[in-house]
Formats: sequence, C-alpha cells, structure tokens
Amino acid sequence: MAERRKYSKKYCRYCEGKVDFLDYKNPSAFKFSLSERYKIMPRRLTGNCKKHQEMVENAIKRARHAAIIPYVASRKKVIDNPFAGLK
Ligand SMILES: [Zn+2]
Repeated sequence: MAERRKYSKKYCRYCEGKVDFLDYKNPSAFKFSLSERYKIMPRRLTGNCKKHQEMVENAIKRARHAAIIPYVASRKKVIDNPFAGLK
C-alpha cells in the first residue's frame, strides 16, 4: 500500500441504515459527517451517496441555525468528541 487511508472502507452509512429523513434536532444522526471542528465532511471522505450528502448538509445547516451545533469551533474548544456534552 502506497498510502495509508485515513478513513476505513467507504460506504454510505445512511443507505446502510435505510435513512429516509434526517432530523436536524438529532445531531447524533449526522455526527459521521462532521469533522472535529464541526465542518461538514466532504463526500469523497465519508463515502455518502449524493442523496444522503444533501440531506446531511441541510440537516447540519438547520442545526447550526438552531444553535444545536456551532458554526465554528474556537481553537481552545477543539475536543475529541464534540458530542460528549450533548444529552
Ligand atoms: Zn445513501
């Protein structure tokens, strides 16, 4: 192997779970698609299909607007698990 892959095998986790609708009020549903700095992960890294990536984008943007997840993570606040404080 020339290059070690940062992410393991790529597949759409939402297709696997047969997700038809993503609720923006439930951040654990789209945590796979958020980086540690709360950025939306690109499809080329997560392996999401186009349909689910668009659903994830909408859900994350709505959740940001509703202040469920932050727009930006400050340098001090970068932590291992951004969902540790939730629930
Ligand atoms: Zn999918």
